[in-house]
Amino acid sequence: MLIEASKFTIDGVVADYIPALGEANRDTLSIAIYRGKEDCIGAGCLEEKFTLQSISKVITLALALMDHGEEYVFSKVGMEPTGDPFNSIAKLESHIPSKPLNPMINAGALAVSNMIVGNSNEEKLGRILSLVHEMTGNPTISFCPRVAQSELETAFLNRSLCYFMKQHGVVEGDVETLLDLYTKQCAIEVNCHDLAKLGYVIANDGINPVTNQQVIPLHITRILKTFMVTCGMYNSSGEFAIRVGIPAKSGVSGAIMGSIPHGMGIGIYGPALDDRGNSVAGMKLLESLSSRFNLSIF
Ligand code: GLU
Repeated sequence: MLIEASKFTIDGVVADYIPALGEANRDTLSIAIYRGKEDCIGAGCLEEKFTLQSISKVITLALALMDHGEEYVFSKVGMEPTGDPFNSIAKLESHIPSKPLNPMINAGALAVSNMIVGNSNEEKLGRILSLVHEMTGNPTISFCPRVAQSELETAFLNRSLCYFMKQHGVVEGDVETLLDLYTKQCAIEVNCHDLAKLGYVIANDGINPVTNQQVIPLHITRILKTFMVTCGMYNSSGEFAIRVGIPAKSGVSGAIMGSIPHGMGIGIYGPALDDRGNSVAGMKLLESLSSRFNLSIF
């Protein structure tokens, strides 16, 4: 019922600055809710696949923190929300020292991807995917080469962010190699069930409920959820915290991952976006769910 009500309100446009994303059906809306073990419920087209886009930033941040620890990671990337669009270059120049303000904006996420340990992009992406597999229990998850290539060919803004950061010593190495990894991580393909499971592990202290394996250390899941609250919904994060109150991360594919601490993981897909890059119907659906079931953490 909530899904139908949210669908009626669908306006917004599908992101097409990455050409392959422009092919999405703007009228789709799906949600999965995972409460551990076998308990996954949902509505809509749950088998439909979409790419993580910015949601991958949460996964790579987890991995970078596991690889290097907080001190190193936060020497290169800050912890503050920007209030600017996700792809903005403005604060890179105006903020001294010249490092990205947080890991959820593109500049910060590119710096974080640059930290992933591995001898090749294949190995680095393999490590990112392994973490995704351990979190979801789904070893078939991979990336969509077509979406990755489409972004790589048009990532002029992200290229300039990289070159700016290279000049200032925030990123090292070959920019094209970094963009190749970043566009592939953004193109990791999941369905709503997978996304809800990713959200669940972050919500529940880093433990996969089926294997009981600690896949992300507890203190890192706290950091992830905090960034999801302060910067997860782009420059709508403040309003979203008030209206919905669930730690969440969205991506320009129209996906939203929600993590209710010690509660459920939520995966939503609705590709029509507002002017900040958030799924219009997805936000509406989360707002209705939150108010109906009193889900706000605040
Ligand atoms: N791959 C996208 C980009 O860098 C991710 C942005 C997003 O989902 O917010 O533009």
